[in-house]
Amino acid sequence: MTHPSAWLAVRPEGLYCIPGDFFIDPLRPVGRAVITHAHSDHARAGHGAVLATAETIALMRTRMGAGLEGTQLQALAPGEDMRLNGANIKLVPAGHVLGSAQVVIEHEGARVVVSGDYKRAADPTCAPFEPVACDVFITEATFGLPVFTHPPAGQEAGKLLESLRMFPERAHLVGCYALGKTQRLIGVLRGLGYDAPIYLHGALIPVCDTYERLGVRLGALLPATGAAPAEMAGRIVLAPPSALADRWSRRLPDPLTALASGWMRVRQRAKARGVELPLVISDHADWPELLRTFDDVGAPEIWVTHGEEQALIHAATQRGLTGRALRLIGYGEAAEEEAA
Ligand SMILES: [Zn+2]
Ligand SMILES: [Zn+2]
Repeated sequence: MTHPSAWLAVRPEGLYCIPGDFFIDPLRPVGRAVITHAHSDHARAGHGAVLATAETIALMRTRMGAGLEGTQLQALAPGEDMRLNGANIKLVPAGHVLGSAQVVIEHEGARVVVSGDYKRAADPTCAPFEPVACDVFITEATFGLPVFTHPPAGQEAGKLLESLRMFPERAHLVGCYALGKTQRLIGVLRGLGYDAPIYLHGALIPVCDTYERLGVRLGALLPATGAAPAEMAGRIVLAPPSALADRWSRRLPDPLTALASGWMRVRQRAKARGVELPLVISDHADWPELLRTFDDVGAPEIWVTHGEEQALIHAATQRGLTGRALRLIGYGEAAEEEAA
């Protein structure tokens, strides 16, 4: 076997497969990109050609529109093998958002799995993460500290429903990212039997429509803009986190502010943002999930793309694995929010 460090390189544009002549989630425009999912820090504009799942391509079209002009888009079904120049690749579900995939690359007897963003917790709106045995596992480490343990999403969504019962006259304004978090929260609430209409900030509507079109049922959704304020009393209103504090929210009846994010595990963050009801709901693996995944894929080597790499590499080393920090700059939830 030829060791992957001989054919996978970190370049200014991002992670590059030399025999395949493609980049994975490149940060700058390149000739050929393989895209793990449609979050804006991973799916950027200006590439010559993009290979991704059909769902990711549909979501990229929704979010980027004219930004995809001049880019040749090619869909690859999950689990299907494909030869790309001198490498074999396959996309396997990552459980992060609809369409999200790990990229499995094989070359000269070695197999590398690039996880992209992923989680192991259940999500009614996307296919679950599938562990693939490999020689090198390339992981994110957004929540790569032992303090980050995410409770079950149903438990957190239950807090929101409990608050609605306690304060039936208040609009419950929940900040959540447009792609993934919004639909998962809706799906979890529906799973708990909540079937009232859910009101949406305009920025969240196009992605919800695309999820519906791709077969994910979200129940009754109504635009918050144009709805009479009194109508939203005692209802759930979803908006991007950036809209929580702005003028938009002031027309809601006595709004109670919640925010759905893995960062809500850190109390100071919730306080700093004026969040009354922090909901710890994350679409990234927490600390135990990261370590469980190392066990499941059985890779002797772990490479970390971004996040809390020091702690995670230390933990990998303690398990007898070799760890390496790739220090790719430009990924992260903040980048997702800014662009959304
Ligand atoms: Zn993501
Ligand atoms: Zn990301």
